[in-house]
Amino acid sequence: MDISRFCGMHLPQQYARAPSRYEGFVYATDGRIGVRAPVHTVSGADSIEQGDRSPLIPLFERFDADRYDWHPLPPLTPTQGRRCGTCEGTGRVTPCTDCDGEGEFEHGAHTYGCKHCDESGVLPVHDPQESARPCGECAGSGVDSHTGVEVGAGFYALRYLRLIAEEYPDAEIGVPYNDPGEMAMWRAPGVIGALMPIRR
Ligand SMILES: [Zn+2]
Ligand SMILES: [Zn+2]
Repeated sequence: MDISRFCGMHLPQQYARAPSRYEGFVYATDGRIGVRAPVHTVSGADSIEQGDRSPLIPLFERFDADRYDWHPLPPLTPTQGRRCGTCEGTGRVTPCTDCDGEGEFEHGAHTYGCKHCDESGVLPVHDPQESARPCGECAGSGVDSHTGVEVGAGFYALRYLRLIAEEYPDAEIGVPYNDPGEMAMWRAPGVIGALMPIRR
């Protein structure tokens, strides 16, 4: 599996920008979704750096499956949900050429939003031949980040459920018994993950 799909390459935190290895597992997160997978299941694991900085390490050490209400992944259809406005549904972007990826310009004491990229700092890439990076807004799914799906008493972003389903079709989502508004967990054979809910 390609664990870098769970990273947030556009984020400032080093632990989010790239996966890291620690004691037999590879960790990846973008702050809203996280995963811990055995090293031997991860493609390219040899080139992943060792590191103990990921906030997922203590989180998964405390993991107690009994505190969660477990559900299979809901059925997800390819046409479900609004498309992501940032990448226009392609899931692929490149830095904006007008603002050099900043999303704004500085002029004297003022800053101006970039109109070319609508202040996102990136432009959609429609041509599959053109080089691009995954859209950070939709985790490369092409789905609007506010589109959600109910799982038990919880409500989660379709873009992340789709990502889990693509990498781990047999995954289950664990909704916290005491508060469905708190972080959920997910699991697949040998793998543990975390997932933040969204607002309905
Ligand atoms: Zn997008
Ligand atoms: Zn721009």
